[in-house]
Amino acid sequence: MRAGIVGGGIIGLSVAAELLRRGADVTVYDPAPDGTGGAWHVAAGMLAPGGESVFEFPQLERLLAASAELWPAFAADLGEVGYDTAGTLGLALTADDVAEMSREWRHQKLAPLTGSQVREYEPALSPRIRAGVHAPTELQVDPRRVIRALRATLDGRVREAAVLDLSEVDADVVVVAAGCGTAALTGLPIRPVKGQVLRLRGEPGLLRHVIDGAADGRHVYLVPRADGEIVVGATQEERTDRQPTAGGVHDLLRAALDLVPGLADHELAEVTVGHRPGTPDNAPILGTLRDNVVVAAGHHRNGILLAPITARLIADLVLTGETDPLIDDFTPGRFGCA
Ligand SMILES: Cc1cc2nc3c(=O)[nH]c(=O)nc-3n(C[C@H](O)[C@H](O)[C@H](O)COP(=O)(O)OP(=O)(O)OC[C@H]3O[C@@H](n4cnc5c(N)ncnc54)[C@H](O)[C@@H]3O)c2cc1C
Repeated sequence: MRAGIVGGGIIGLSVAAELLRRGADVTVYDPAPDGTGGAWHVAAGMLAPGGESVFEFPQLERLLAASAELWPAFAADLGEVGYDTAGTLGLALTADDVAEMSREWRHQKLAPLTGSQVREYEPALSPRIRAGVHAPTELQVDPRRVIRALRATLDGRVREAAVLDLSEVDADVVVVAAGCGTAALTGLPIRPVKGQVLRLRGEPGLLRHVIDGAADGRHVYLVPRADGEIVVGATQEERTDRQPTAGGVHDLLRAALDLVPGLADHELAEVTVGHRPGTPDNAPILGTLRDNVVVAAGHHRNGILLAPITARLIADLVLTGETDPLIDDFTPGRFGCA
């Protein structure tokens, strides 16, 4: 079986690595395999199966949970990729923020904590924080390390080339995993959703947990890596441009410093913009588009979390023609395609 994978982002590489592991002859095509075009390069790497998206498309909750279960083995196979199990602290600064965050916390059945209780987990948190929760199953990984490890697995099988027409790909089966680029190749309704993300650097150890908080109506997350990097994200804008904006950066920094004042001394090391591949229902598109063409795209805010389950489902489909019924809610057919 010769498989051509269009797109060398987290989804394309995860599918390719799984196909290779099961004996397929794999080639990946990507014009910018160093990451300049991919959302993964910007993504924080939260593995948050209980997050907001489940309200939009309830079936997604099962897919997110199934993928979260696969992550420990997926990470162990890849080696040191920053898979971290400290968990997440949800935080609310003001009474209005408590009201907003409580809906998600109730949905996840998390026990409320007072401000002083959350500071027992993280002493660097502001004494102004009113309430929070500890979510032990909301984890993190470093997407840039994941991609490096996947590319090492696929050594020599990634070609630096854009695919402009799927008929150009010489393979028994073509898997389209081109993120936002999938729309132009397939006609599927995938739109770019802009996100601005900052990377701060300082002494390691200021934070241990992922922080997912609201501060005066501004939503922010902070993802601390072991080396002292703290990823601060993210705006969500229905825009296609790649410009960071003063307002976007201001809102992220304001909320981050309101929650963790000690971040003021960190270096502002990176400001990046990426585009989440969004779909009309914000759930991914997984399945057969037409004879010998399979799609794995539209993972929107959860593509890092969903990489292991996508790899498994798509490899099953490509190699056996059969998959877990879990995939049935995500086929291209729900948008009148295939
Ligand atoms: C700001 C931000 C924060 C995020 N945070 C998280 C998070 O914390 N947790 C989480 O789970 N997800 C997160 N995401 C979402 C996640 O990054 C995406 O869902 C995921 O990267 C999608 O993977 P992908 O491989 O489909 O697309 P991408 O990662 O975008 O990769 C697509 C690849 O396809 C290539 N390509 C495009 N067109 C072509 C073509 N014609 N021919 C060949 N190759 C092509 C591109 O060059 C690119 O390398 C975030 C995204 C953003 C933007």
